[in-house]
Order: sequence, then structure tokens, then C-alpha cells
Amino acid sequence: MGRSYAYLRRQIVPLEDAKIGVMTHAFNYGTACFEGIRANWNEEKRQAFIFRPREHYERLTQSAHILQMETGHTVEEMVSLTVDLVARAGYEQDVYVRPMVYKSSEELGVRLHGLEDDLLIFVTPFGAYLDLDKGSRCCTSSWRRVDDTGIPARAKITGIYINSAFAKSEAVLDGYDEAIMLNHDGHVSEGSGENIFLVDRDRKVLITPDPAQNILEGITRSSVIQIAADELGYATVERSIDRTELYTADEVFMTGTAAHVSSITEVDRRLVGGGEIGPITRELQRVYFEAITGRNAKYMDWCVPVPVAVGA
Ligand code: PMP
Repeated sequence: MGRSYAYLRRQIVPLEDAKIGVMTHAFNYGTACFEGIRANWNEEKRQAFIFRPREHYERLTQSAHILQMETGHTVEEMVSLTVDLVARAGYEQDVYVRPMVYKSSEELGVRLHGLEDDLLIFVTPFGAYLDLDKGSRCCTSSWRRVDDTGIPARAKITGIYINSAFAKSEAVLDGYDEAIMLNHDGHVSEGSGENIFLVDRDRKVLITPDPAQNILEGITRSSVIQIAADELGYATVERSIDRTELYTADEVFMTGTAAHVSSITEVDRRLVGGGEIGPITRELQRVYFEAITGRNAKYMDWCVPVPVAVGA
């Protein structure tokens, strides 16, 4: 059940008709920025809830600005387009929404200026990304995180994901689930598509790299910081983190729209917290899943409900 649609060149079309030409600037040079948004299916209410789409579209607008582009739409317009696309698709499962602002001119020549842009959005079914029940095994990558002086990680730029892809493939082909990337100075930055947190249960704090550590400032990251404070009385310290702090933390977890809140139970062949999913990670996961599926009244303003399918 369900059929995917896309928004392209200011029109909604069936996904299979949403095509771009081979000379498109973004395809040749990676000159695009994007978002990943989840619409989470709530079986009791038989309805999908889109998680924090405004924050995602605000970040998209900022990423586009860094690349000298405009989304051409207000945040509210992009949110309502997203609601429309998810409703039309009619999937009764979790879906992923991929908005992208890209240099659409079919023209060669490396630059940012003097090119046309377009906003595209598509919707596709998408389940779990990392194993939520078991926890993941990570390695620190031999690939260093790109620096703000080269490609700014705070912008979600398509071309930057080569850096993530190098790290992810190295990790998976070496038998791990995910990579942890370090900065050039050797401090912890983030996963290939996730932010990272350490838990200090004695001091009742979460520790996570600050925004100057070449991270994407995740929307899941900020949601978890708030949940930890509200539900557990845990403050979050944002600072630079040594690689070996990962080995001695009580718990380590990653956050991201795709990865949700995922426990990291091993880093560089050292078990973290005995190799089990820790109690703080479990509690954060529990509240986070209630929040993203529209099942926790306290966090309902993070969700945009999708009207029941219009029968497209
Ligand atoms: N870092 C990177 C490199 C990512 O790709 C993502 C996923 N968008 C994140 C962090 C987490 O961001 P968010 O929680 O907003 O999905």
C-alpha cells in the first residue's frame, strides 16, 4: 500500500517521473544541501507524525544560504508541502522525507555563483538504520572529519557525505556497524550520520562535542538534550572529547533522524559499560520514541500530524 510522490520544479509528480538531467550542476559537483525528516507511523491512531519539520527546514534554509542558494519557499510552505506529500503517499509505516536544494542549471564549471536553484522533496518508506535492540559496535575511523575551513559540517551539503561514506564503508567492511570520526586534532566529532553522546552516571551529565567540533547540529541531538534535562535531570556538557573518553564512559549512544537514539556497546574493541545497553540510554530511547510517534502529550508540539490519507 502506498505510492511515492516528489516535488520537483514547483510541481508534485509521481516519484518515477521526477528526473534531472545528467548535466545538472549539483549532480556533477555535489552543489546541493539536503535534510532527512521522518514521518513516524502511530498504529493506534492510524496516523503519521512528522518530527520537528520546522527545525529541519530552518536548517535547510541555513545550509542553502551557506551555498549561496535560496529555498524559494518559506519554512511554513515547505512544511505544508511535506504534509501533502506524506498524506498522498498513504504509507502505513515509517517514511523518510528527503528535501534538497540543488544547483539546477545544466551547465558545467565549478562555482557557487550565477546558477539557478530548485527545491525538491521526495518521500520513501524507511525502517530502522542501526540495531536498536542490540546496540552497535563502532571503530574510530582512519578518515578525519572535514573541517569548517574546507567544507562546513554545520551545513548538510551533499558533497560532504563522501567524507561520511569513506568512514562508513571502512567501518562496515572491517566488521563494525558504524564509524566515529575524529577531527584533525584527534578529538571526537561525530558518526557518519549521527551525533554522539557519552553518559556520566555519577555526575548525572551527558557529554557531547560542541558545535565547533565540525558536527552537524542535530535535531535529534537537541531533542535528547531537552528530554535528558526534563525527564532525568541530566544536564548536557558540550565540549571537546578525547578518543579514550569513549572507552571509559558509562554509556555511549548516537542520535540522528535515521539512527534515532542508538546505543554504542563497543568502541575500538573495548566494551562500553560491559557491552549492554545502559539504563540512561534506554530511558532516553523510551521517551524519544513516545515523542516522535505523537504518544507523549508533553512533546506534542514537536510533531506535525498528517491528515489520514486522501486516497491518491
Ligand atoms: N551528523 C551527521 C553527519 C548527519 O548526517 C546527521 C543526520 N542528519 C546527524 C548528525 C544527526 O542530525 P539529525 O538529528 O538532525 O538527523
